[in-house]
Amino acid sequence: MTRVVLVGPPGAGKGTQAVALSGKLGVPHISTGDLFRKHVSEETELGVQAKRYMDAGELVPDSVTNGMVRQRLAEDDAQRGFVLDGFPRNTAQAGELESMLAEYGAKLDAVLELKVDTEEVVQRLLARGRTDDTEDVIRNRQNVYHTETAPLLEYYADRLITIDGLGDVDEISARALDALNAFTGGS
Ligand code: ADP
Repeated sequence: MTRVVLVGPPGAGKGTQAVALSGKLGVPHISTGDLFRKHVSEETELGVQAKRYMDAGELVPDSVTNGMVRQRLAEDDAQRGFVLDGFPRNTAQAGELESMLAEYGAKLDAVLELKVDTEEVVQRLLARGRTDDTEDVIRNRQNVYHTETAPLLEYYADRLITIDGLGDVDEISARALDALNAFTGGS
């Protein structure tokens, strides 16, 4: 049973590493960015609400985000554990996550931080070319990360694992898995 949150600035490679880790740990990868993009493409009510925030690189309001995550975590596959990617993104969401898990008598095992240089990640994102990957929006997402999300690193100090996010994808996922196993005792 592994419940892990990945934290790192936009472009740190959280998505890629989350997929690799979820495969190795045998638990689902839950990405709030992917969930939102699915709602947007299906033009659901939630998608319509979320879209303007995403386009501006702002956080979607917690009232919308928390409900979506609560629903996803209630699904069967998530009872085995999860790799959460993109949530929580502020300390209020972290508090919500804690109470969602407490309902199942569960808690987070570890928070894995991918540490990368800001300029490096801006360049990576510009190369990726998603519709919200224009330079202004990218820079805004970086600012939002530093002001709203980075305080989580302190919030989670007792279960934080920081690894270097620069380098070869496979090398980083090996590094991530080793660090995680060392921390959780491989359970
Ligand atoms: P990136 O990490 O590159 O910014 P994501 O796919 O994680 O991309 O997120 C894309 C957008 O989705 C964010 O800019 C934000 O608008 C919205 N989003 C994702 N997760 C959250 C969250 N936990 N809270 C609020 N908004 C979120």
